[in-house]
Amino acid sequence: LLFNSFLGVLFMDQNEVLFDRAQKSIPGGVNSPVRAFRSVGGAPRFIKKALGPHMYDVEGKQYIDYIGSWGPMILGHNNPHVIEAVKEAVDNGLSFGAPTVGEIDIAEEIKRLIPSVEEVRLVSSGTEAGMSAIRLARGYTGRNKIVKFEGCYHGHSDSLLVKGGSGLLTFGTPSSAGVPTAVTNDTIVLEYNNPKQLKELFDKEGDEIACVIVEAVAGNMNMVPATQEFLETMREETAKHGTVLIVDEVMTGFRVALGGAQSLYHIDPDITMFGKVIGGGMPVAAFGGKRDIMNSVAPLGPVYQAGTLSGNPVAVTCGLATLHEIQQPGFYKRLSEQTAKLVKGLGAMAKKHGVAFSAQSIGGMFGIYFRGKCPTSFKEVMECDADRFKTFFHAMLDNGVYLAPSIYEAGFVSITHDDSVIARTLEAADEAFAKVKRVHG
Ligand code: PMP
Repeated sequence: LLFNSFLGVLFMDQNEVLFDRAQKSIPGGVNSPVRAFRSVGGAPRFIKKALGPHMYDVEGKQYIDYIGSWGPMILGHNNPHVIEAVKEAVDNGLSFGAPTVGEIDIAEEIKRLIPSVEEVRLVSSGTEAGMSAIRLARGYTGRNKIVKFEGCYHGHSDSLLVKGGSGLLTFGTPSSAGVPTAVTNDTIVLEYNNPKQLKELFDKEGDEIACVIVEAVAGNMNMVPATQEFLETMREETAKHGTVLIVDEVMTGFRVALGGAQSLYHIDPDITMFGKVIGGGMPVAAFGGKRDIMNSVAPLGPVYQAGTLSGNPVAVTCGLATLHEIQQPGFYKRLSEQTAKLVKGLGAMAKKHGVAFSAQSIGGMFGIYFRGKCPTSFKEVMECDADRFKTFFHAMLDNGVYLAPSIYEAGFVSITHDDSVIARTLEAADEAFAKVKRVHG
């Protein structure tokens, strides 16, 4: 018996062994829920190292990575210039809790690349950026009500963890245990890409609304781009009523274009949130925008906001080095082309096998949908076929392609995803779509 169980452990997938072990000390075995593979089943892969477009798990198995740490790894893993800069920064010390030159450098760089930003405050996560931006908008306007859209995610601060009520224009109800209704009573949830509904709300109570917060290309209900009309209506109505427009570019910033989604839609936000790419894989995020609004933040103004590790010198060095690399000539053209090749190829493979499927990309971000047409709303995203996705996901993973383990996540391509990497992905997809057809018809 002992020998048998020894053999069992020896031949057991090391990822499964580690997942069992992790679950004994970490809730659900993970430090962020979607990593747990709950919606697709199976054990998550424990990653040991990564290089360029590839990640390697503890068993040494190679995966083509389309998660890119959920967005930051736009240069691919272990870019040599970034690693060198970070190593140099580490030699100078890990954290000082006092100002550093790097913080000015990165603030100036963000301002230069995103003209709507006149001043910027660094934080350590997108969640903090969202929480602080909301507090700032409320403090600046002296109003309480905030508006968010169904399917958009802006981090897990209490007032933003809401879902829409049953009727339209209703107040949000908490979408997580532990969030008191009192905290979400002032959060109004509207439909994404519904300018008419937004206008109706503003006609009625625009003067009481502190801010509207939006992802210009939604990346937390798979990928759903906003329509131009939706964003223009939002800018017009917020300007008319003195409401702060917060564009959440945590995911889209330096990802869909060098100037972010606001450059593609020609929208001038009052406040923009950043994260992911600006840290290049280390914890840097930010919120910034119009000077008179930003000057309401402490120590200048009455809106309190702080952080022990905010603007950490090593993390900022990593972010700065990343921001320098993405400004190489032709970077976004190539990134967009490679991503477009991927989604076009996936579409062709699905068609070959007669699977209802659609896909689209903007810059280095993409969405794949088990649905005949790309969705334009949260409701349409919900119509995607989760079972077919699950089969596809596992077939791809077995074949060495690591997609996001959920139908509600966008995908990311890095500049190191060259033609041979895309070709290998499509080979895997050929088999995966065939399997989807075989299993589900
Ligand atoms: N906003 C958006 C658009 C995001 O995609 C995310 C994270 N996926 C966040 C905010 C929260 O960022 P973080 O996970 O760094 O707290």
